[in-house]
Amino acid sequence: MENMDTDDMNNSFDSSVFPDLLPLYYRRLFPFALYHKWLRYDDDKLFVNKEFSFTLKDDVYIRYQSFRDEEELRKEVIQKCPYKIDIGAVYSCRPSDQRTASNFQPLEKELVFDIDMTDYDEVRTCCSGADICKKCWPFMTVALKILDRALREDFGFKHLLWVYSGRRGIHCWVCDKQARELSPAARSAIVEYLSVVKGGEYKSKKVHLPETLHPSLKQADKIISKYFDDLMLIKQELLKSGFAKCTTSQEKWATLVSVDDKAMAKGVKNRSKHFVTEVQFQLCYPRLDINVTKGLNHLLKAPFCVHPKTGRVCVPIDIKTVDSFDPFTVPTISSLCKEIDEYDASLKEANKNEETTDEDQVSATPKIEDFNKTSLRTSIETFRKFVKNLNCS
Ligand SMILES: [Zn+2]
Repeated sequence: MENMDTDDMNNSFDSSVFPDLLPLYYRRLFPFALYHKWLRYDDDKLFVNKEFSFTLKDDVYIRYQSFRDEEELRKEVIQKCPYKIDIGAVYSCRPSDQRTASNFQPLEKELVFDIDMTDYDEVRTCCSGADICKKCWPFMTVALKILDRALREDFGFKHLLWVYSGRRGIHCWVCDKQARELSPAARSAIVEYLSVVKGGEYKSKKVHLPETLHPSLKQADKIISKYFDDLMLIKQELLKSGFAKCTTSQEKWATLVSVDDKAMAKGVKNRSKHFVTEVQFQLCYPRLDINVTKGLNHLLKAPFCVHPKTGRVCVPIDIKTVDSFDPFTVPTISSLCKEIDEYDASLKEANKNEETTDEDQVSATPKIEDFNKTSLRTSIETFRKFVKNLNCS
């Protein structure tokens, strides 16, 4: 039954309707104005020289798109109707002119992070690959909380946009001017600082902590400890299998911790001082796709795109409510189109019932923006607040 639930949650979208609904989504719901405000920052040149790439139907991939303003972006997106939009760097000149430009090179880009649930396959017990479920999603919550804290408190960044990737992961866009202007070497240093789980498939122990824990790791430890029991012992049933059938995962974990405590008290040699923390970090510490962060010309899927397989919108995640963020309640393109239709139909019905013939009164009714008719409203509001804060700094 559990597998059926997972399949159902991951495959409930009828992807054959995607091409038909996409034009309507771009025309009526995609937040072009906020996009333009976001990516121009305090300088039009930053928007004009920004690279967008489109993935069209049948995987036709076109790089180096760039737009003069909001209107041009809107026009091109509606006309080409890309299945996916990616955002890249700001270049030395317009990316659309790159073939004729001399010395065409990336100058700056948001500092971005990509966390994908497939990198947790060796530690999650519920599903694998592209699938996610309610038992493993909290890995993303923990990752988000640890990175958000480190980026704000250790690096002093303020403008972080967290986004659900539409399927099995999350993205972070750090948009402070200082972050956007970081060199590739500085980006590598930051991602190195934030990476704790190291080593490939064939390395079993992937976390080695020094004697004295760095304050940043102490903070990460606090966050992991808060989630560990519920995520690893209850949801993931980490120690379920094995010989002692009568004991729960929690009881087994408690035994392991107490054995380690005794070893510490006895001063057992060759024992890692932070053994328990190392195990917890290996299971729960964020696993980053480091190449996405390092490269200045690496592209990342744009917020508010719709995932063609799940139909879900890549919505911003409000850090204040991240604990209750549920990827399975994120609106899909079909649910949104239905909401607009239903709203418009009810409005028509209400107007019909109004027994007024006063034309002025009818035309004075303020026009409601389409996103306000749908459950995308709160996501747009989160995005609007993020963009507004950018402009007052
Ligand atoms: Zn799962």
